Order: sequence, then structure tokens, then C-alpha cells
Amino acid sequence: MMRAAEIRRSFLEFFASQGHEIVPSSPLVPRNDPTLLFTNAGMVQFKDVFLGLDKRDNPRAVSVQRCMRAGGKHNDLENVGYTARHHTFFEMLGNFSFGDYFKRDAIRFAWTLLTDVFKLPPERLWVTVFEEDAEAADIWLKEIGVDPARFSRIGAKDNFWSMGDTGPCGPCSEIFYDHGPHIPGGPPGSPDEDGDRYVEIWNLVFMQYDRDASGKLTPLPKPSVDTGMGLERLAAVLQGVHNNYDTDLFQPLIQAAAQLAGRRYGDDPKMDVSLRVLADHIRACSFLITDGVMPSNEGRGYVLRRIIRRAIRHGHKLGLRDTFFYRLVAPLCEHMGEAYPELVAARQDVERVLTLEEERFNETLELGLKHLDDVIAQMGGTIIPGDAVFKLYDTYGFPVDLTADIARERGLAVDEAGFEAAMAEQKSRSRAAWAGSGEVKSEKVYHDLRARMQPVEFLGYERLDAEAAVV
Ligand code: ATP
Ligand code: MG
Ligand code: MG
Ligand code: MG
Repeated sequence: MMRAAEIRRSFLEFFASQGHEIVPSSPLVPRNDPTLLFTNAGMVQFKDVFLGLDKRDNPRAVSVQRCMRAGGKHNDLENVGYTARHHTFFEMLGNFSFGDYFKRDAIRFAWTLLTDVFKLPPERLWVTVFEEDAEAADIWLKEIGVDPARFSRIGAKDNFWSMGDTGPCGPCSEIFYDHGPHIPGGPPGSPDEDGDRYVEIWNLVFMQYDRDASGKLTPLPKPSVDTGMGLERLAAVLQGVHNNYDTDLFQPLIQAAAQLAGRRYGDDPKMDVSLRVLADHIRACSFLITDGVMPSNEGRGYVLRRIIRRAIRHGHKLGLRDTFFYRLVAPLCEHMGEAYPELVAARQDVERVLTLEEERFNETLELGLKHLDDVIAQMGGTIIPGDAVFKLYDTYGFPVDLTADIARERGLAVDEAGFEAAMAEQKSRSRAAWAGSGEVKSEKVYHDLRARMQPVEFLGYERLDAEAAVV
């Protein structure tokens, strides 16, 4: 079995041996990019290089980038706990060419790594290209020799990438892994592709054009490559499991959470969802705080607060009543600390912030849940009315997605438009309510913490050689 630590290292070493510079992960909060909530892909730190605004000495790079997809354009929060493959926080393995190699080498590198280095049987892989990209199709079918029976041409929605409305863009080619016929779901491009049988593991983006404001595409003089592969999904494949949560990246956290709750993972599917949510959310929250995000009522800080509250509610479902969430920071540091020493350095701050948030939310969680039960008992139909969702938000501190998460468990939905309307109407009153619920005290603590915490410095890969000697 290949442990996640070995997978990270093999990926970096493979591309280093092909002339790529190993570049450290940048923080979850993008530097100098207010347009982006969180770093959501490996290419984010290279945006200016792709735009031609910045230049690197080496036109090839490789990284293991920590990413967040909760809020903003990419939001996978509500999938967490329910699909085998989505997380809020995950690590993206990526290789990049800045005007250097293009499709032929990018495809060859990916195929060689997967089939030669990681020894994946080609008959378990499925490849897609953009339907108009005959060049990529030829490379896959004629040069690599991929079986046409496991190959499809896909439309722009999934297989054409762009940085924004204008600027660099181009076709993608994606590689999927077939977890086998015992799992429901059809191949990419088929009507039932949404199942979990074929899991997308790697996305190769060929930045080939520059799009202007009128939508016209002009070929770039020096096309580039940006790729991203989810470490957690690859780990599942290489560890012979279907679900990412059954890998060594998550099992120690799930076991730690199960132990706190006095339960066993696998005993009860509903409780298992909550255990997976806790394992996901402790990673997301700890890395956000490590990277300098503090809970607040807007922007990045509100995403963090929402994730913390969602975690606490799932802990409550598991029967956990005292502050518990911060206790998962120790097992997280134990298992991720080697790859991310900055996490270990921030450990006490992370625990402190989580404890404060939890103490505060515990004051209203129980009452809010009771209120929600009353509302559900009295309402007709399956939609929780917007004013009730707003009251839960305003009086009990329930973020909308938390109420939606509870609704989903009971086969209900929330009236989001009604919530937004109630919110707009009572905006000034809600501010007063927030201030009254302990806001001032914890805001000061967060302010002080933020001032004291050093900008995050990445130390991870320096351990690469030392670690290599151990394994
Ligand atoms: P999906 O279609 O499964 O949602 P995606 O097409 O949105 O994935 P990309 O934007 O292409 O994903 O990101 C590159 C790679 O990052 C994916 O192929 C996948 O391996 C991984 N990845 C994307 N989103 C997540 C997530 N929420 N959790 C874990 N891994 C992810
Ligand atoms: Mg997605
Ligand atoms: Mg996809
Ligand atoms: Mg993709």
C-alpha cells in the first residue's frame, strides 16, 4: 500500500526528474488577489506567470498545493460527507509548463506516471478530451495507444477551461479511474456519469488561446500547461479503496472522532456521514486558521465560521455535548504535521480559536435546534420558510447552509430567496443581535491573534529528503 506521504513525494520526484522546479504550496489565502476567496487550484499562485505579468527562471514547475473549495465559484461544501470524492480542503498535485512543453509532453508525463510509476492498469483508466481538440485526441489514441472504448469527447462545460471572462483559456483532457462495476455510475459523457464508479483523478488544461472582450479566441504564441490531480482521490486508487475517506489521509481522523463520540465507524450510515464531515472539517478549519483566517461574519472568516458550526452540529448529532472539536487538532497534527510543519507551529492558536467558537455556538445550538423542530412540526409542505431560516440565523447563529444541511437529512429544503429577503429587510437589527451574542469578546481575541501570528512560511518540502530516508 502506498501511503499519502509517499504519493506526494513520488509525484514531486517524478516531475523534478523531468526538469520541473519543486515549488512550495502557497497559503489558502491568495496573495494579492482580492477576486478570489481561497486558493482553489495549484495554478493560482502562478496566475501572473500565465498572464505574462511575471516570469520564472524555470519554465517548468511542480507543486502539492493546499486548496479550499467552500464558497466562491467552486463550492463543494454540501457534497462533503455524502460523496466518496469531495472535500472542502484537499491537496492538489500539479505540474506546470509556462510556455515550455505542451500537449504531447503533458499527456505523456501523466500517462507514464500513472501506468509506469504508480502501475495502474490502463484498462482501469478512462480518458476524455474536448470535442474539438483533434490534436489531443490523436496523441491519446495514436501515440499513447489508449483504447477508443475507454475514451470520450466532451463538450465545453467540463472540458474547456478559462481563467476568467477574458484571458488565457483552452481545452482540457481528463483522466478518470474506473472503480469497478460494483459501484453505480456510468463513464464520463454518459447519462449516468454522476455516479461514483468513474472518478475524475487528473485534469490537464492546455492553455492555448487568449480570449478578448468580444469572445474572440487568438492562439497564444507560447501555449502553457496547468494540471491538477487530487491527492485524496489518487490515494484512494493506490490504496485499493473506493472512498477517499477510507485512505490514510482520513482514517486516523475518523477514528479519533469516533473515539471521542464512543462510536464505531461503519456501524450506522447516518453517523458515518457525521464522522466524515468532522474529518473533513477539522482539516479545513485548522488549515484556514493556520493560514491566518479568523472567524467573522463576512468573507473568508464567515466561510470558516460556517464550517466550524457545521462541524459542531454534526458532533452534536453524534452525541458530543462538551467542547470537542478542538480535540481533533492533535490527531491532525500527528498525521499532517510532517508534510505541513506550519500546522504544528500554529496548533495552540488553532485550538484556542476553535474552543472559543464552539463555546459560543454551544450557547445557542440546542435552543436553535429545538426552535427548528417546532417550525418543522408546524409547517405544511417540505420547504422551511425564509423567515424561519432567518430567525435561526439571526437569533441562534445558524448559517443558512447549516439549516439546509439539517433540512436535507429530513428530506426538506429551505426557502433561500425568502431568507435573503428577510435578511435584507432586517439588516440593521441583525447586526445588533450579533454584537449581543459574545461577538465583541471573541473578536478582540481574534484581532490580537491575527496581529501576533506570523505570515505563514512554507517548510514542508525541506523535509523531503529526510522523510525519504525513513520510508
Ligand atoms: P469534480 O468534477 O469531481 O467535481 P472538478 O472537475 O471540479 O472535479 P478540477 O477543477 O478539474 O476538479 O480539479 C482538478 C482535480 O482536483 C480533480 O480532477 C480532482 O482530482 C481534484 N478535486 C477537485 N475538487 C475536489 C474536491 N472538492 N475534493 C477533492 N478533490 C478534488
Ligand atoms: Mg467540481
Ligand atoms: Mg470535473
Ligand atoms: Mg475537472
